[in-house]
Amino acid sequence: MTREGAADAAARVQHLTGPRGTFDVLPESAEAWRRSGAWQALEAAGREILHLHGYREIRTPIFEHTELFQRGIGEATDVVQKEMYTFQDRGERWLTLRPEGTAPVVRAYLEHHLHAWPQPVKLYYLGPMFRYERPQAGRYRQLHQLGAELLGSADPAADAEMVLIPLQICRRAGLDRVRVRLNSLGCTACRPVFREALREALADLVDALCEACRERYRRNPLRVLDCKEPGCRRHFHRLPAPSDYWCDACREHLAATRAYLDELQAPYELDARLVRGLDYYTRTVFELVAEGLGAQDAVGGGGRYDGLVEQLGGPPTPAVGFALGMDRILMAADRLGSAPEIRPAPEVYVAHVGPEARREAVLLALRLRAGGVAAELDYLGRGLARQLKDAHRRGARYAAVLGEEELRAGTVRVRDMVTGQEELVPRDGVAAWFGGRLGARGGAGA
Ligand code: AMP
Repeated sequence: MTREGAADAAARVQHLTGPRGTFDVLPESAEAWRRSGAWQALEAAGREILHLHGYREIRTPIFEHTELFQRGIGEATDVVQKEMYTFQDRGERWLTLRPEGTAPVVRAYLEHHLHAWPQPVKLYYLGPMFRYERPQAGRYRQLHQLGAELLGSADPAADAEMVLIPLQICRRAGLDRVRVRLNSLGCTACRPVFREALREALADLVDALCEACRERYRRNPLRVLDCKEPGCRRHFHRLPAPSDYWCDACREHLAATRAYLDELQAPYELDARLVRGLDYYTRTVFELVAEGLGAQDAVGGGGRYDGLVEQLGGPPTPAVGFALGMDRILMAADRLGSAPEIRPAPEVYVAHVGPEARREAVLLALRLRAGGVAAELDYLGRGLARQLKDAHRRGARYAAVLGEEELRAGTVRVRDMVTGQEELVPRDGVAAWFGGRLGARGGAGA
């Protein structure tokens, strides 16, 4: 390659950036929500809380047949209309990067006959979702959700659980002031009546609404209530709400759900005009809102979807679920300075003096690691003083120094990095010495 060619290639490489609406998570970053340790801490807290409630993890593919989302989420939703990453593979199958987790979980539930398992089946998932939205702070094209589904029960206790679990997860991230907006959309008996009343009321109003709302009115009038435009919202007080049409069973279901939430003093309020972006919800719907996040303040949401399993070809199966936006939780926690974080640090930094000790240092580090002790060492040919500085910077608990003298005597000089105390330990016993102090898993065989 000519010099100019190489320079051109370098310039091209420089210009490569991640796709719009995506971001990298790094071990270190000024913003906590872009640090991998914060993600790990949130995931660990989420898993722990979900395990306590009896949920087990399900991992579904990142892509699915497009038809699953068309049938599952609803043709008239924004997600299916304009936000899906859909493509044809080389075998000419239409595939879509998953925009949400519920439809894939229901697909797996049916495909693997989980309806034959003891009910209810409690599952959770965690991972990236893809939506072609207009990116802004808190809105990404690759977003990350932690969600759970409880399939096979119509008990209001399940609805209450689904509100309480995400609240607990948010609290573990330091979001103490998350509030829940709660509503019921009614069931197959009362919802169509409400829908019709809404359509009628909207008929007089539709010309005053935004273009998107006029389209929603045509396709699915319920979605109009989800519009965030102030120009549209100021008319909404004239529209009927689902609560005007709830049947007795829906009324009782909501009351029973609320009774559990009241007992546990969950911070919720009823919001008569809350609807959600996906079509499959019936009865309970809710949203978790974090203060101080600006326009994108919803950190999670969910609800009951009693018709979805049947809609996707299964037996009638009541179900309820939630999804938390992990990106937004960490952003909110970052603003509060409360983002939890896991920062792995070496337990032992193996330092050496001189080329002969180098080989022993490498072997000692490898043996310590094989024995379950987190060990680090220098890879840049630094002198002892700079190695010890590096050990400090990385937060090592101990330094194990191998110099000429130690090499000759078959020892290692172990320095406690907190107290500065030093001790000479025989080299063949050093792994056991650390194992005893650090609670290592298994012997190092050194
Ligand atoms: P949904 O699946 O639409 O019910 O969304 C559940 C949660 O995912 C929302 O409350 C947000 O916290 C989060 N979320 C949805 N869309 C995005 C997005 N484009 N970027 C970041 N987070 C999102």
